[in-house]
Amino acid sequence: MKNHLVPKSGSKVKLQDYDPDFRGDYDKAKAVAETDQLQDKLENLQERLYAENKQSLLIVFQAMDAGGKDGTIGKVFEGINPMGVRVASFKVPSAEELAHDFLWRIHQQVPPKGYIGIFNRSHYEQVLVVRVNALEPKEVWKRHYDQINEFERLLADSGTRVMKFFLHISKDEQKKRFEDRLKDPEKHWKFSMGDLPVRERWNDYMKAYEDAISRCNTDYAPWHIVPANTKWYRDLVVTKAIVQTLEDMNPAYPAPEPDLDKVVIPD
Ligand code: ATP
Ligand code: MG
Repeated sequence: MKNHLVPKSGSKVKLQDYDPDFRGDYDKAKAVAETDQLQDKLENLQERLYAENKQSLLIVFQAMDAGGKDGTIGKVFEGINPMGVRVASFKVPSAEELAHDFLWRIHQQVPPKGYIGIFNRSHYEQVLVVRVNALEPKEVWKRHYDQINEFERLLADSGTRVMKFFLHISKDEQKKRFEDRLKDPEKHWKFSMGDLPVRERWNDYMKAYEDAISRCNTDYAPWHIVPANTKWYRDLVVTKAIVQTLEDMNPAYPAPEPDLDKVVIPD
């Protein structure tokens, strides 16, 4: 069993090899304390990114239903200045979106310089739901892998770092979470009858994810497979990976205007 990690670029990923229950040697208290510290770093790095105004970071979240996309986004970014972050959720495409190429609606939501952009679902739906449900013929969707790689390369070459997270839960864990949603009236809104036929195709989705991760796991836009059955461990893994990436981007405050030490603010 492998831990949370970035698979080797070019290797064939088998999700069975990745344990969604993995927690390393963490218990909840230790994970939460470490996540708190990392969140302080994240806040500071985000402020520097915004002040520097030269690079941006795009973070893609993909998961099965109840995989924790919303929960992760809410937790990891809870302390971040909302001014510097934009979340985009991609639903079933509208008629206008369908009248364009599949990246048209995606490209518009890519974060501009200084910003962190969060994708709740993404262009990867085009090789997941579209493939599993044959919404496009195979000749069409099979070309999307290369097109996605080229698109992400364009972003990387243009100053946008791209990271992609697959929140990996087990089929049993999804069942538990669906049952919780059905039990709790405040969670009913999160349950949709449409989630059940998707669950029936679980194995097809896992294959589609394996191909998406294997074929689009590049050095410039890596996939992270996150063990996500345990929410506090999932949040730790995601926060840590984002902090590491931002540290590597190393955004700097712009140089101050000269002679600030001589400025006297008039009464
Ligand atoms: P939650 O997990 O909270 O239910 P969600 O992301 O599932 O949130 P929904 O409105 O339930 O939000 O579902 C959005 C739906 O849109 C998903 O079923 C997804 O597969 C679908 N979708 C997204 N992009 C595409 C696409 N390009 N083509 C077809 N369907 C898409
Ligand atoms: Mg849904």
